[in-house]
Amino acid sequence: MGENEGLKAYISDYSEMFTEFLQELEAWCESGKEPATGDQDLRHYLDLEEKRLKKRGLSMKARLKTFGDALQTSKLVSAMSRDPFHIARYSRSQHYQSVEKTISYERNGQEVYRKKDDYDVILTIMEAASEEQASIGGMDYVCPACGGISKIRALQEEGCPYCGSHFLMSELFPKVSNYWFNKSVSIPEKFDSDMKKWIGGTISVVALSFFIYLMFADRRTGLGLKILKALLGGAFAGAIWGYMLFCGKILFRLGRLAVRGTKVSLGTKKGKAKIDRFLSQFDPAFNYEYFQGKVLSLVRSIILTDDPSNQPQYGGKALDPEFERYLHINYAGGIGLDHAQVKNGRIMVSLDIFLLNTVDGERGIEERLERLRVKMEHLAAFRIDPEFSIQRVSCQSCGSSFNALKEKHCPYCGTAYQPEEADWLVTEISR
Ligand SMILES: [Zn+2]
Ligand SMILES: [Zn+2]
Repeated sequence: MGENEGLKAYISDYSEMFTEFLQELEAWCESGKEPATGDQDLRHYLDLEEKRLKKRGLSMKARLKTFGDALQTSKLVSAMSRDPFHIARYSRSQHYQSVEKTISYERNGQEVYRKKDDYDVILTIMEAASEEQASIGGMDYVCPACGGISKIRALQEEGCPYCGSHFLMSELFPKVSNYWFNKSVSIPEKFDSDMKKWIGGTISVVALSFFIYLMFADRRTGLGLKILKALLGGAFAGAIWGYMLFCGKILFRLGRLAVRGTKVSLGTKKGKAKIDRFLSQFDPAFNYEYFQGKVLSLVRSIILTDDPSNQPQYGGKALDPEFERYLHINYAGGIGLDHAQVKNGRIMVSLDIFLLNTVDGERGIEERLERLRVKMEHLAAFRIDPEFSIQRVSCQSCGSSFNALKEKHCPYCGTAYQPEEADWLVTEISR
C-alpha cells in the first residue's frame, strides 16, 4: 500500500462511519457480532451487555432508522496529553444524528417489551491525531482479533505477533469509542409525515363516524349524498382536529421531556461548572465532555460485568444485587458534584450521575430514570489521558504495553499493575 492510499484510508468520513456503526449495532443484537467500527473498550462493554442478557434469558432486537445528516458537536485534539511536549496521538470528536429507535426484548421466544421512540444518537469517534503515516505506525494498538498489543505498523505489515492477523489502516481508524441516546422532542425530517398521518387518521375517523351517524339519524337523503356529506364533514373537521391533536401530542412530549430535563438539572445543580472548576485546578486541559464519557463507560462496565472485583478500575465493596437486573445503561445528560476533596495526594470526588436504565425488574422490563452515587479517586498529579484504555496500559516500571483486563502483572517484568496510579479508580456505585 502506498503512502497516499494509507492516508486516504485513514481520513474519516463520519457520516459513513455513523451509518456503519448503527447497522453493526443492529446486527450485534441479532448475532452477537461486535461492531468492527467500535474500539476495543466499546466492544468489551457490548460483550458484557450481551452476556448479561444471556444470563437473564433474554434476547434483544433493535431497529435504527436515521434522519438527516450526522453533525459534529466538538473535537478534542492534542493539548490533553499526559506530557505537554508530547504530541497527542489520538483525537476524539463528538457527533450526533436523529434516529427512530425500536427496541424489543424476547424471553423464551415471547416478546416481553417493545418501545419505539425518537432520539438523537451521540457518538464519540476516536482517530489518530496525526496524519503522518510514520508517526501513526509507531503507536500501540490493541489487536482487534486477539486483544494483544503491538505497533500499528506491525498489524499492517508483518501481522499481529500473537495471532498473525493483518489489518488495513481503515480497519484501525477511526473507531467509535462511546455512544448513547438522548430523547428528542421531534425529528424535523419526520415532522411533516407525522403531521400528515395524524391529520389523515383523524379525517378517516371523523368521516366514518359522521357516516355512521347519518345512516341512523338522516333517513331522508340517499346513500350517495350521505357519503359526500361524511367525506366533506370529515375532511373539514378532521383536518382541524387532527392538526390540534398533533400539536397537543408535541406539546405533551415537550412538557414531559422538560419535566425530565428539569429533574436532571435540579439534581445536578450546575454540576458541569463545578466539576470543571474543581478538576481543572489539577489539569488545566481538563475537559468535561471527555470526563462524562469516562464516567459513563466506567459505570457501564462495572455494573454490567459479572464479577466487579475482576474489573481493574473498581476498588469498592460488592455491588447492590439489584444491579444484576440491569440490561442497558444509557446516559440521561447530567452529572452533579456532591463532594470533592484532596487527601494524601489523591483527588476524591463524589458524583451524582443521571442515567436512563433498562432494568429486568420484578414486574417485567422497565425503563428507569435514576440518579446513582458514584465515588471515584485519582492521583492529584493528574493529567487527563484521552488515550487511556484499560486494554492498552503501560507498565509503571518498564513501560511495556499490555492488556490489564487480561493480565494483572506486566508480562515483561512481572510488576503488579496498579490501576489507581494510572487512571480513575471507582470506589463506590450506589442507588
Ligand atoms: Zn492479534
Ligand atoms: Zn513491566
